[in-house]
Amino acid sequence: MIAPFHQMTTWSGPRSCRANSWHEVPCPACGSQEAEPVLQACGWQEAAARIYAVVQCQTCGVWYTNPVPDDQCSGAQQRYSPLPETAPALAALAAEVAPPPARGSWLLHFGPADVSFVERLRRRGWRVALWREHPCEVPPDWWLAEGLAVFGSLEQLAQHCPGVLTTITVADWFERQPRLAEILRLWHVLLKPSGRLVLLVPNLDGTGFRKYGSCWRGLDLPFRRVHFHASTLYPLLAQAGWRICRARTYPSLLWLQESAWRWRQSQTSKSPNWWRRLVATSTWAHIFSIWFNRLCGRGDWLVVVAQPQHAS
Ligand SMILES: [Zn+2]
Repeated sequence: MIAPFHQMTTWSGPRSCRANSWHEVPCPACGSQEAEPVLQACGWQEAAARIYAVVQCQTCGVWYTNPVPDDQCSGAQQRYSPLPETAPALAALAAEVAPPPARGSWLLHFGPADVSFVERLRRRGWRVALWREHPCEVPPDWWLAEGLAVFGSLEQLAQHCPGVLTTITVADWFERQPRLAEILRLWHVLLKPSGRLVLLVPNLDGTGFRKYGSCWRGLDLPFRRVHFHASTLYPLLAQAGWRICRARTYPSLLWLQESAWRWRQSQTSKSPNWWRRLVATSTWAHIFSIWFNRLCGRGDWLVVVAQPQHAS
């Protein structure tokens, strides 16, 4: 991993936005306040404005963004922008969804709304609904693709529809939440005993992070609040009452290319060897890396299929 140790002495705060306040937050997984810094990185969307810190919880080992600016503290600001990587990420997610036990079984999706995702799953017999807090957050093309939607808080949904869902799919959403245990508990309530949770998160064990470190696209600071290794995600799910049925990683060429570009920008003052720069930024090297990652399971996305434990 290329660690930005030269940045570790820099205060984790805004460079130019001094008016913003920052808040120390507890671990989103266990609530502990004990943590040690592991890396610092620029925000992906605002590279010149702020440097953020990622710390490791001393209790459960999860990496999380801390401190966070006040406009991100509540976790209320969710971004569902149509990022270029959305479609391949959701294709990876859909590939892990098993056929429905009966035509018309309910599948509830958390994360970006993608037309190809709903069309693909509807063809396989799923009744696909998108979760949003407010109706205005559902894009028009989701409706045109005959996708459904449910609104309101997760607590309300669990209260009124326990044990209704056959599958829950999650992409680009879970790791952005400030508190995870309650979400896992509510998903447990919503699913049928034989239901499945299909969860996609960025993978810190993947080649992208190991190669580019703080320049990796998957960090997306400060919007991604939690950063998972398999070794921290699996225990979190197990403690919340989930049994891991299957796990698989998927590489992302786009993320490797964007991470390489950011890494190259950060290396201008260090003048790395030309061959190292070539290997780190060449598209052919990335394509080879993706082929290799498929073989050894070091892709940039980790997809986990889990089942409520009482179903055994
Ligand atoms: Zn923790």
